[in-house]
Amino acid sequence: MIKRISGKEPLLLAIAPIVACWLILVLAETSLFKKMNVWLQDTQQYLFAEEIYFDDVVFIDIDDASLFELEPELGVWPYKRDVYAQVLDYLTEKGADRIVFDLLLSETREGDQALAQAVKQHQNAVFIASSPVYASQKQYQDLNHQRLLEQLSWQASPQLPTTPLKKLVLPAQEFILRAQNQANVGVVDVFVDQDGTFRRLPAVYQVGESYFPSVPLLLQQKQRGKLDFDHEQQTLILGDKHWPIDEKGMLNIYFPRNANSVLSMSFYPVVEAARGVFKPDNEDEFFQGKTVFISSSAFKSDLVNTPRGMMSGSYFLAIVYQNLKHNLLLKAPKPWLDQLLLTIALLPLCLFPLFFHHTPGRHLLLLIGSAATIWGLNSAFLALSAQQSTLLLPLLILGAGYFLQSIVLAKLSIQRNESLSRKAQHLKESNEELAVAASTDALTQLLNRRAFLQHFDAQIEQYQRDKQPFTVAIMDLDHFKSVNDDYGHDIGDQVLRAFAEVVSSSIRQHDIAARWGGEEFVLLLPDLQEAQAFNILDSLRQNTSNREIVTEQGTLKVTVSIGVVQFSEALNNAEDTIALADKALYKAKDNGRNCICLNSQIAEHKA
Ligand code: GH3
Ligand code: MG
Ligand code: MG
Repeated sequence: MIKRISGKEPLLLAIAPIVACWLILVLAETSLFKKMNVWLQDTQQYLFAEEIYFDDVVFIDIDDASLFELEPELGVWPYKRDVYAQVLDYLTEKGADRIVFDLLLSETREGDQALAQAVKQHQNAVFIASSPVYASQKQYQDLNHQRLLEQLSWQASPQLPTTPLKKLVLPAQEFILRAQNQANVGVVDVFVDQDGTFRRLPAVYQVGESYFPSVPLLLQQKQRGKLDFDHEQQTLILGDKHWPIDEKGMLNIYFPRNANSVLSMSFYPVVEAARGVFKPDNEDEFFQGKTVFISSSAFKSDLVNTPRGMMSGSYFLAIVYQNLKHNLLLKAPKPWLDQLLLTIALLPLCLFPLFFHHTPGRHLLLLIGSAATIWGLNSAFLALSAQQSTLLLPLLILGAGYFLQSIVLAKLSIQRNESLSRKAQHLKESNEELAVAASTDALTQLLNRRAFLQHFDAQIEQYQRDKQPFTVAIMDLDHFKSVNDDYGHDIGDQVLRAFAEVVSSSIRQHDIAARWGGEEFVLLLPDLQEAQAFNILDSLRQNTSNREIVTEQGTLKVTVSIGVVQFSEALNNAEDTIALADKALYKAKDNGRNCICLNSQIAEHKA
């Protein structure tokens, strides 16, 4: 059965989701919300990430152990650059594909000649450029600097969203101006989220009119190319490859579930192998076809925070490089998907006041159903197409809307319970009234015939147990018809009420008086034999004849005749007993009225 709710509750239920929406949208501006949102997105990403071990990239770390091990041979950091030449020669010989020097080689140093020579010879080294925070002003104020930027710039579509840099520090010229159009300078620059965590990386940087890819993007091809943008697909295009980027031109990084997805090793065994001091077992296959990042995490420098914990910046770049190479990037949240999730949160909340019988159970079911749908859709998009969505907003709106509606429902159920208990109370009272009415005579307020017979039956049962005598009397007002005839029916009623009062006041508390019908009344006198009952009944008779009944037509007096019988085993039931009493009553009438006749006297008389 569908109960319609009246009053203002349906309106409140309908307003609740709107209020919730408003509240949460305000909350969405706070940093707490942003933190929670990022946490939820990281958690979702973690849950759906796979364990991956990238086998085509190696990270060589100039770590504290390397500084310690190499000090006897190479002296203290920073090293002369011929050591890098030796490493480059060695790695090339072992089949490494490309070697990224994630070290700022912008100032000249001893050994540069040897490195420049190796770079020229192998054509596989990649160098980094970065914003000036890392270096002295001198570098980018160079007159040649502008010309150099233009010379090294990639082509880019003007529509492509890029990350602007005011200045860029380039590596020393002798390392980078080698082959025509070679892709060997990429940008490494920090970009952290509000919470200091790396989740995104700018794809392309712009310095004035020059464009530079970030290192992971640069590594996707060996020649500089044209960076294009597909506005509709929101993708960055390079050659025949497409990658999703967000509206700010950021790559949204997919982190494998394991934190050790990139192979990493210390610098010193590589140097020792390169210098022939030490020969590793698997050196012939190990570097074959791999892209090698060389950088330094010594002195805890170059460490970045990511959703998988702290890692070296180069290690992070290696993951991004693999993201691009294997097309793992996440797609930034899309407005249509976010709106769909919001609709799934809001629609059931808005429809609830119309279509549901408002019970807490169904309401909770609605919450769980909507939340599960939102979560499921988000998960499906993430798992199937790496499409992220803003999960927290619809979930919070759903929760807040549900909460507010619950308050309205709780209020409603309190009201319902109150009205139910009021109704129950009312019902109880009217049942009691009914029970009284069913056993009471309306005119005299004495018991009626039905109630009297119930008492009588109970008394007979009692008698069968204890054989205690009891007596029954039937009383009839004398010449009552003439009262009616002379004074009218209303006065007659008044006389009946007055007589009832006399009866009540003349008998003992546990005696039972009832109106038998018309102007006839009955009495049940427990524990009394006929003769003992006589005394009570006679004083009742006298009280009646003495009672002055004051009416508007003057004062009246009536008399009563009484027939009496003592209950005995032989009688056995109420009907027979009353019949005998009735006989005695007739006798009393015969005897001249206003008197008492005992059943035993009749019997004696007959005898
Ligand atoms: P008797 O001494 O032989 O009993 O004479 P009586 O007139 O009392 O007896 P009868 O049976 O002829 O008359 C009884 C009258 O009681 C008849 C009827 O109108 C009246 N009566 C019965 N019930 C009521 C009642 O509820 N109210 C009033 N006012 N009169 C009633
Ligand atoms: Mg009568
Ligand atoms: Mg009478």
